[in-house]
Amino acid sequence: MQYAEHVRSLPADYCPFCGEEIRSQIIREFAHWRLIANRAPYAPDHLMLIAREHIERIHEIAPEAWNEMRDITHLACKWFESRWHPGYTFFVRDESVYGSMKKSVKHLHVHLIPSCLIGRIEDRADTRDFLDDAAIDALTREIADSFPRA
Ligand SMILES: [Zn+2]
Repeated sequence: MQYAEHVRSLPADYCPFCGEEIRSQIIREFAHWRLIANRAPYAPDHLMLIAREHIERIHEIAPEAWNEMRDITHLACKWFESRWHPGYTFFVRDESVYGSMKKSVKHLHVHLIPSCLIGRIEDRADTRDFLDDAAIDALTREIADSFPRA
């Protein structure tokens, strides 16, 4: 199934990042963030930081959460380098008109993507595959086993 098709199947007021199904994607839990494997990756080893509370805008990130994000992204950089990725892109979409920047889930999330050009990311936003339950379970376990401890 393609990711765009999955998103269209969700009820309008449902938040997948507050729901139970995100549990199968969790690599580590932190005080302000959950580090998860992306279920519709733009590239191999695509991770995301999901705010633990439902916030939607960058200005809602608390100072302590920014500090923790710095520490987690440093761990992610170490992990990407251990997997021989020569570079990485981190981004968060913030918008007041949903859909205008291809942000499909309102709940604030930060993409951590190795070895992928920004132009390629936007080109694949709607056509990337949505991993089935077995594939995301195996991927999450594999990443959790190799991701550095704080
Ligand atoms: Zn949410």
